Formats: sequence, structure tokens, C-alpha cells
Amino acid sequence: MSDGNGPPGTAQRYMPRFTLDDGPITEVHAFWLAGMSCDGCSIAATGAQNPTVEQLMTGSIPGLPRIVLHHPVLSVTAGKDFMKAHHLARAGKLGAPYVVLMEGSVPDESIAGAFGGYWSAMGAEHLPDGTQRPIPTAHWLRDLAKGAAAVIAVGTCATWGGIPAAAGNVTGSMSVMDYLGKDYLSQLGLPPINIPGCAPLGDNITETITSVLMFLAGIGPLPEFDELGRPAWMFTSTVHRGCVRAGNYEEGKFADEYGQKECLVELGCWGPVVQCNMVSRGAVGHNGGCMNTGGICIGCTMPGFPDAFAPFYKKPPGTLVSSVLSRGTGGFVSYLRNFTQRSRNLTARWKETGSVPSGWASVQAKASSVDRAVGFFYERMKASGTRFEPGSARQKELQASASDYLRKRPPAQAAE
Ligand code: SF4
Ligand code: SF4
Repeated sequence: MSDGNGPPGTAQRYMPRFTLDDGPITEVHAFWLAGMSCDGCSIAATGAQNPTVEQLMTGSIPGLPRIVLHHPVLSVTAGKDFMKAHHLARAGKLGAPYVVLMEGSVPDESIAGAFGGYWSAMGAEHLPDGTQRPIPTAHWLRDLAKGAAAVIAVGTCATWGGIPAAAGNVTGSMSVMDYLGKDYLSQLGLPPINIPGCAPLGDNITETITSVLMFLAGIGPLPEFDELGRPAWMFTSTVHRGCVRAGNYEEGKFADEYGQKECLVELGCWGPVVQCNMVSRGAVGHNGGCMNTGGICIGCTMPGFPDAFAPFYKKPPGTLVSSVLSRGTGGFVSYLRNFTQRSRNLTARWKETGSVPSGWASVQAKASSVDRAVGFFYERMKASGTRFEPGSARQKELQASASDYLRKRPPAQAAE
């Protein structure tokens, strides 16, 4: 809010420069701006698979407008040629709808400006004295946001402020929503859309763009966003609920060093409280992603990141209660499950003969007296309420019919 020239400001709604009445939208420009960023979000986007950036740029998804991407690293043009579309859009002369994608946080340019410098800039503007000065990225965001169909903040720096806005924030860095203000609405009437993550999942980026394009083209509903503008279907659930190690947590099995397959909460995993779909979706092409590859969750999608989760790699305080409880109840649950699993791993024949003809290893087929006692009750509970309950009239009827058949069957059949 304080870069000198100011953001779009309060309550002002700009008149649309395009409407669906103009006919089907075949092309949408996408201006990718990079503020205080490490370019990790760009790298993540290029790894997206569902859909790929190439599919979006070639318009190969039926019904979806083609994206004309203006990206400072990926575009093949440079210098004035690259900046031409930016200037046209800023002047309202692009002649096509566009979206703004912002990577990195927005610095307070008044701090650097006071010393004649800038934090982050792209392109240049001519001054009356014949000289030129770089145009801060923040100003591009401010100006392009006015006519954008949608503003999409990509990555935690753009969505919440992220690492540049962490403790000791000398650049005055802030998020896109902090910069544009509470009353900002795009041409589609949307506040900034937020796709957090450091870096976010590539598929989360391209899928969100796709769903906005479908809405823009009039072939899809407005996607569901949560109270912070996150695509709700991606960020409602916690990492823990989709984690491949969650069963270990439930059974009270915890890793005490990296490389082990159990739950990582005692090594510092914040997954139980963090909203992210990384492990359930996989980092690239449904593969990899934090706990899938042995890493803990450090909460990188959350507005409080990084300060609220630091120091990293230290057991979160809540773990003292939850993992102690899990150990207590999980040990018993684990015993019961192991018992059930053992008995389901035996065929009826092996149980009857008391041996398993496996050359792989020795398999215990004979149940211990404890297992037999547990099994007695287990089988009764399993069948209780059904026609097959042990001792039920139906069971007796079936047994009688089987005995009758065995008694009456022809001798030749009995010999088979
Ligand atoms: S590793 Fe983390 S997210 Fe996975 S089960 Fe353990 S606490 Fe939950
Ligand atoms: S699982 Fe945690 S650390 Fe990994 S991407 Fe999600 S929020 Fe970030």
C-alpha cells in the first residue's frame, strides 16, 4: 500500500473492456510478473502435467482459449518487443482479455525509491528530461490489475508475503492481496486468487488457470474458492489426511530418524494442521512430494510461513499430546490389526492342516491359544446380525444340507 504511487486503491471497479457478447474468446493473454521471487514458481509451472503449459499455450484443450504467455524468462522475445504487449495492456489497447500472474512478493518501492533505486523492475519508461527509469514490477501489477480478467498470485511469496516478508523484512515486502487492498476486484469481479506453496504444485497452477479460463470462456462455472481465495478443492484438507504415513500415526508408529518409513511428526512434521495437497497429488506427474519422498512438512502453503513454523525440523509442541495419545491407543489397535491380518493371510486349507507349503519362509499357520480365543469372539462379531452367524438357524440348515449331500453322493464322485 505504500510504494509512493499507490496500488489501485479502494472500491474502484473498472469498466470491462470485453464481454462474452463479443463472441467466443479464442485468445487470452497471460502476463507473468516476478517480484521478490526465486523463480521456483516458474520452474514448478513448467513441470505441470495436468494440464501442461504447452497445452495451454497451443490451445489444445477443447473449448479453452489459447494462452498467449508473456513470461520474462520463458518468452522468446526480449527488450522492447517483449514489453510491447505490457504497454498496450496498460493503455487499454491490447484488444483481448488478459490475466495477471504474479510470482514473488510485492516490495515497498518507496523504500528503495527514496535512494533513487528499486527492488524489482521490468521495462523502462521515458522521463521528460530524456532519461529512462526502470518500471517497478509493483507498478506493473498495480496498472495491469485494473484491466485484468483475473489476478492470480502464484506461490507463497505472492499469496501471503512468504520468505521476503518474514521477520527482518527490510524491503517492506507484502502479498498481492495486501498490495491491491481489500476492495480490489478484477474485471470478472474476483478478488486476487491465491495458489500458495513454496513452490506450489505445478498442476495446482495450471489447473487453476484452466478453471478460470473455462469460466472466462463461458464453458464452466466459477470455481469454488475459500475465504482466502484458494481453490477450495485443493486446500481444504490437511496434508496429514492424504499422507501416505497417516496410518502409522494412527497406530502410534513414529520415525526417530530420516529414512524410516513411519510417521515423521516427531522429526518436525506440521502436516496435521497444514492445508496442502502435495502428498495426495504428488509433485510432478503424481510422483514425489514431501512425505512421499521422506521429507517433513514445514507449512510452506500457510499464511504464517515461515515464521510460524520456525525453527524447522523441531517437534511441534502439539505433538507432545497427540503422539503420546497415539502411542497409547495405537499400540492396542495395531495388535488387533496384526491379528486380523495374520488370520486373513491363511487359506481355509492351511488353517485346517496347520501348515503353509511356502518355500519363501516359515509361516505360522497354527493359532496360539490367545489368537484362538480372540478369533472365537472376532468371528462371532463379524457374522453377528447376518444369516451366517455361528449357531444361527440358517447355519444349521446349511450344515445339515451339506452333511446330507456328502452322505448321499455317488461313490465315484467321492473318490475324485
Ligand atoms: S508424516 Fe506428517 S503428514 Fe504424514 S502422517 Fe506423519 S504427521 Fe501426518
Ligand atoms: S506438504 Fe508441507 S512442506 Fe510440502 S508443499 Fe505442502 S505445505 Fe509445503
